[in-house]
Amino acid sequence: MSVRLWLPLLALLSVPALAQQAPPRALDAEDLSIQNFLQAVETSISTMERQRWIDLLSPAADRDQALEFFEAMVPQGITRVVVKERDRSPLQGTLPGEGFRLVIEVFMETGPRGRIATWNLDIRRPRGDDIGSQPWRIVAEDRLASIEGLHRLSLNPDKQYAAKNLVLRAIDFELRLPAGDVFVSETPEGVTGMVLIGDGTMVFQPMPKQEKGQLKLFAGVEALETPFTSAFVRISPFELEQRLGQDMLEPVTVDTRAYRRGLAQFEENVPKSFNLDLSDLSREVWSLLPQPGDFVAEVKTRRFNDLTYARSSGEAEDVTLFQRATKRNISAYASEQKLASRGRFFDEDDLVDYDVLDYDVDASFYPDRSWMEGRTKLRMRVKSHMIGVLTLRFAESLNVSSITSDEFGRLLYLRVRNQNAILVNLPQPLSRDYLMTLTINYSGRLSKQSISEESIRIDQQRNSQPDDIPLVAAEPKWLFSNRNYWYPQNQVSDFATAHIRLTVPSEYSVVASGITEIGSPAAAPSVPIEGSSRVMLRTSYSFVAPQPVRYLGIVISRMMRVDAATVALDIVPAKAPPVDMRGADSLVQQITRLNQAASIPPVGTRNTLGLSVEANRRQEARGRDVMYTAADILRLYSGLTGDVPYDSLTLAMVEDDVPGGHAPAYMAMINNAPPVTQLNWRNDPAAFQGFPEFFIAHELAHQWFGQAVGWKNYHEQWLSEGFAQYFAALYAREKRGEGAFRDILRQFRKWAIDDSDQGPIYLGYRLGHIKGESRVFRAVVYNKGAAVLHMLRRLIGDEAFSAGLKKFYADNRFKKAGTDDLRRAMQEASGKDLNRFFERWIYDNGIPRLRYSTAVEGNELVVRFEQSGDIYDVPVTMAVTYGDGKTSEFIVIVDAATNEARMPLSGTIRSIEANTDGAAIALIEKK
Ligand SMILES: [Zn+2]
Repeated sequence: MSVRLWLPLLALLSVPALAQQAPPRALDAEDLSIQNFLQAVETSISTMERQRWIDLLSPAADRDQALEFFEAMVPQGITRVVVKERDRSPLQGTLPGEGFRLVIEVFMETGPRGRIATWNLDIRRPRGDDIGSQPWRIVAEDRLASIEGLHRLSLNPDKQYAAKNLVLRAIDFELRLPAGDVFVSETPEGVTGMVLIGDGTMVFQPMPKQEKGQLKLFAGVEALETPFTSAFVRISPFELEQRLGQDMLEPVTVDTRAYRRGLAQFEENVPKSFNLDLSDLSREVWSLLPQPGDFVAEVKTRRFNDLTYARSSGEAEDVTLFQRATKRNISAYASEQKLASRGRFFDEDDLVDYDVLDYDVDASFYPDRSWMEGRTKLRMRVKSHMIGVLTLRFAESLNVSSITSDEFGRLLYLRVRNQNAILVNLPQPLSRDYLMTLTINYSGRLSKQSISEESIRIDQQRNSQPDDIPLVAAEPKWLFSNRNYWYPQNQVSDFATAHIRLTVPSEYSVVASGITEIGSPAAAPSVPIEGSSRVMLRTSYSFVAPQPVRYLGIVISRMMRVDAATVALDIVPAKAPPVDMRGADSLVQQITRLNQAASIPPVGTRNTLGLSVEANRRQEARGRDVMYTAADILRLYSGLTGDVPYDSLTLAMVEDDVPGGHAPAYMAMINNAPPVTQLNWRNDPAAFQGFPEFFIAHELAHQWFGQAVGWKNYHEQWLSEGFAQYFAALYAREKRGEGAFRDILRQFRKWAIDDSDQGPIYLGYRLGHIKGESRVFRAVVYNKGAAVLHMLRRLIGDEAFSAGLKKFYADNRFKKAGTDDLRRAMQEASGKDLNRFFERWIYDNGIPRLRYSTAVEGNELVVRFEQSGDIYDVPVTMAVTYGDGKTSEFIVIVDAATNEARMPLSGTIRSIEANTDGAAIALIEKK
């Protein structure tokens, strides 16, 4: 099978490398004899001499077939060959040490071209008089896989061009060079690289309005037209003519000094994209050719330093502008072509090749060395039409020692350097619905994850405290979750069931995504402590996640079980709906669907939840208190959604200098301040003074939104954070009353108004990204997101909102949702067209300006609102205070250029106020 490597955007923007695996060890006589034999294989290939190959064959080999293999595998014109052994196993039907099945990698260069092939060679010791000079003979050979189309690019020293009003075009992008030097890098197919030197102009004009806004934050303008001094471009060799007009390049005599300047640019930039580092096969830079339509430009601008423009046709957002030095995405969007092919919205799942059905992780962790050893088994189903290479996401610092599949045995894999990725070469292409089990063994150092996604975190602000106050160090803890790829996993979060077994030194305990299994914790075999005669006592913790989770999280610390109880929930049991078979075209899909339905209780059928609390010793008292709060919160949320997605929840009350939390499925980690700490937090979008339960209320809501209901791509993250923030506010209302709720609404409004100019809610993590301000992200995605949900509720009414919420949750439980799914559920529940509401509030970032006037007509108060520009749907609370001090409120739905509302009066008016609850995200003034 031959594989064309398609590099995802990430690979394109950093420097991927194939790294090899075999750990160094002392060579024994057998190793040496096999090395000698492989040397002979290498010679036979490099000389391309059939006879040398024939000399390596055993009399038992099929000679014709072996020759055919050699002819097919070994191209003419080989200039260099490297053969490396990757795996060795006993050959069936031979005595120990008499025969082996080798897996080898063969790297063949023919001038500037390269290919890697992986072969099986079955070898035996020769018998009788057949010994000759070789200790081994080939009995059978087979090709497992190959990677073709590698190019060692160079800048042609014999060609130089003068630019004549050169314009090089890509989507929304141009490089203009009126005059200057141009050098090229060619393959037999044509020009794939160009260096442009001279006073040029780079033009970047993103089409989408929001991208113009982001570009303005970065560069101060909505369309960038900026001088450059040099540029390096990679294109498909078949596209030079369509990107470049005629007569723009005039051949000139090569000027050595100019060429040297071009060469410096070439060498600096060629390793940055479409590039493979082949590790022990070759130390040189090997490049792939861009696919037609793909394009990368590395541009040295005068004002913005190095900027990278890329068009990557395989990505959902195919046009990007990137600043490598700061690792910031300035632009990322779908071109018009892409939108035409995929529609306005996309699901990241549509781009992955396989679906993981179940993870089984069995690992040991040694906190003193931050060392992990483990084995993960993935049960997966192929999703794409056909795949030859699987990409797994996995921490780069963890070394993989083997990957095997139940179906194919040992598999070849390539590590991608500077990236948390493994490429697994499949022995044959697999087609859709193929079920496969992969087992990956690994070990290495793993650093803990800092909380960020799916968590509240505060920008820390140090108090200026005198130095003589002793500080108490926070109890150490290790969090491994969705950001540090501590187990091999799909490239995007992927709903799957799971088993986790984690073994730790006995003084630690573990909280993880899952229900604690019966018999856990249990004593595990002790291990010797290095440099000591003592042993380390260890304990194993086991968890099972029968309901699908998006990712697995664990926290390890010195914790004790504080309390455990079963919480009775207030859910009206629902009748089990029929299994949804839409989209289940094949038998395998139908069986999978039915099995899932059988193992996961339908929405609303579970009416209790196991709640337990583990805490660091100093947090024991807080741990006891939190049981009641958590039970209250869980009851409220299960009532709001009509379901509880997971059977159990464990709270880990840990210490940290920075307040915050993190909430994978089945668990929530809550940071508590150590007894004396230097840090303080104020003035952050996620901090609500006077409401200490806010963090925990936010984190627990993620069991429903963020975990059970995922999001389709980064744009949709507000569905997780906005709902978590809104649910926390609703809990504040229940626990502390309307006043506390309104305080929170007013803070939501303030943050939303202050930071909406940074972009729409739909921009997700990119809010504040260009300037490195995570505060902006929380202000808009969390707080404005929550405020928008509350406005929606006021617009369609409590009843419709409640029905829509339940429907949205039920339709999307254990799936990834998008804003359009929420819109549809709310439209169905309310009978209202909500397109404009979502268009303005989620996809756009304006703040409506409203003016109102009031008049008394007879016994009625008449309120008139006006808004200009884009029309927003904004429910506004009006409060009338009467002469006797009583106040009554009513909501005016502002949804047109002018709106009028009437309210019967019951006394003389003392005052009238608008937006008294802070619920309207609008600037409102009285005429
Ligand atoms: Zn959150």
